[in-house]
Amino acid sequence: MIANRARHVALALLALLIANQAVFAKRPKPGFNLFSKEQDVQIGQEGMKEIEKTVKLMKNREVNEYVRSIGERLAATSEAGGYPYTFKVVWDDSINAFALPGGPTYVNTGLILAADNEGQLAGVMGHEIAHVALRHGTNQASKANLLQLGAMVGGSMLGGGSITGQLAQLGIGFGANSVLMKFSRNAERDADLLGAYMMAQAGYNPLEAARFFEKLEAEAGNRSGVAQFFSSHPNPGNRTERIEKEIQYMERRSYDGDTGQLERIKAIIRGAAPPEGTAPGQQPPGPPPQEPPQAAPAPQQPATAPSSRQQAYQGREFQLAYPENWRAFGQDGQVSVTFAPEDGIVQAQGGGTAIARGAVANMMAASRGQSVNLERDTGRLIEQLRQGNPGMKAANRQPRAITVDGSPGLLTTLYSPSPFPGQTEVDMLLTVARPQGLYYMVFIAPQSEFRQHQAAFESILRSIKFSQ
Ligand code: ZN
Repeated sequence: MIANRARHVALALLALLIANQAVFAKRPKPGFNLFSKEQDVQIGQEGMKEIEKTVKLMKNREVNEYVRSIGERLAATSEAGGYPYTFKVVWDDSINAFALPGGPTYVNTGLILAADNEGQLAGVMGHEIAHVALRHGTNQASKANLLQLGAMVGGSMLGGGSITGQLAQLGIGFGANSVLMKFSRNAERDADLLGAYMMAQAGYNPLEAARFFEKLEAEAGNRSGVAQFFSSHPNPGNRTERIEKEIQYMERRSYDGDTGQLERIKAIIRGAAPPEGTAPGQQPPGPPPQEPPQAAPAPQQPATAPSSRQQAYQGREFQLAYPENWRAFGQDGQVSVTFAPEDGIVQAQGGGTAIARGAVANMMAASRGQSVNLERDTGRLIEQLRQGNPGMKAANRQPRAITVDGSPGLLTTLYSPSPFPGQTEVDMLLTVARPQGLYYMVFIAPQSEFRQHQAAFESILRSIKFSQ
C-alpha cells in the first residue's frame, strides 16, 4: 500500500512537472533575427516620423489618455519585453491598428468604435504589442533578406546612419505589404497567445481579443474598412479555441480591469471634428505604400584576386583567418559577420547592396527544445535563403559531409542570379552542427570567378575554430 501510494505521488509530481514544462514551452519567444533590439527601436523611431507625416493623429486629450493608459498597462507586463512603447490614436474610420518594431503603436478611431468592450480594444493592442515583443517585423525581414542583410547589418550600419533608409534600398519599408508589417499565420498565432497572457495580467479576459477578431472576420464581407487588418494579420484559425486551452496557465483569473470608459470615449470620437485638413474615411488605411527602390545594377568590374596572406578574425563564437585584402563587416553583439573585398559588395539589381564576392558567417539558433540536426536544419536554412533569393537552386550533386574543427558539417552547392547582370552566382553553403545551433557560412562568387576564389574559400574553411 505504502509503496503504491508513493508511486502515485511520484506520478502526480511527474505529471505536474510535465504540465509546468508545457506552460513554459508554449509561451512564444522571439525567433531568428539579424537585428539587435536597439536596431528594432531605431527602426521604429525612424518609421514613426515617416508614418506621422501621412496619418492624422487624434488631438483629443481624453481619447489619447484613455488609449495610452490601456497600452501602458499591457506594456508593463513582463511579456511586453520592456520596449519604449508609445500609443497614439489615428483619425481613420477603418478598423485597424498597427505597431512598428521597437514600440510605436497606433490605433484607429474606427477600431475603438467597433469594440464592444474595453477588453476587445485592449486585446487588439495586446496583439500588436506582442508583435513588437516577439520582434516579428525584423524576424521576417531577417529571414527574407538573409544574405543582403547579413552584409548590411554587419557592415554599413556601423556608420550609425538611418537604418530605414538602408532598408528602403532593399525594398523594405512600412507599407502594408512590407515584411516588417505583414505577418505570417504563425506570427499571428504567437501574437494572439502572448497578447492573451498580457491581457490576463492586465485584468482583461484573454478571450475578448479572439472573440473580437472572429466577430470582425465574420462581418468582413459586409463591413467596410476591416480588410486592411486581415491582410496584414491573416487569421490563423481557431482563435478562441486556442486561447481557451491556454487560459488555465495564465496568472490572473479575475477580470476586473475594465475602466468602464469605452462608451464615453466612443461618444467623444463620434462628436469630434476631424483634425485639420482631413475628412474621415479618406485617409489611406494604415501606413502608406512603400516606394519601389530605384538603383541601377552595377557593371561587373574585374575582380581583385584574394590575397594569399591572411589576417585573423576573432569573434565570440568562432575565429578564422581571411585574406588580408578583404574586410570584416561585423557588429558588436552580433554573431553575423561578412568578409568581403572592397569590390565584393555591390549594388543589387533590385537596388540595395548585395555581396557578389566574399563570405558570410552566422549562427542559426536551435529551435526551442530541439537539439541541432545537421540535415534537417541545413534544409531549413536553405529554405530561408531561398525566401530572400527566389532564383536560388540547389546543385544536382549531394551535399558533401566534412568535419570542421571536430564538428560534423555539410557543404551544399547552391546557384542563384548574381548581382552582375546575366551572371550566375555560386553560393557554397557550409553548415556545421554546434551545441548552440547551426553555424553556417556562405561563400559567394560569380560562377565565372569561382575558381579564382576557391583557394581563399578553402583556406578560410580550414581555419575555422569554434570557441569551446
Ligand atoms: Zn497580428
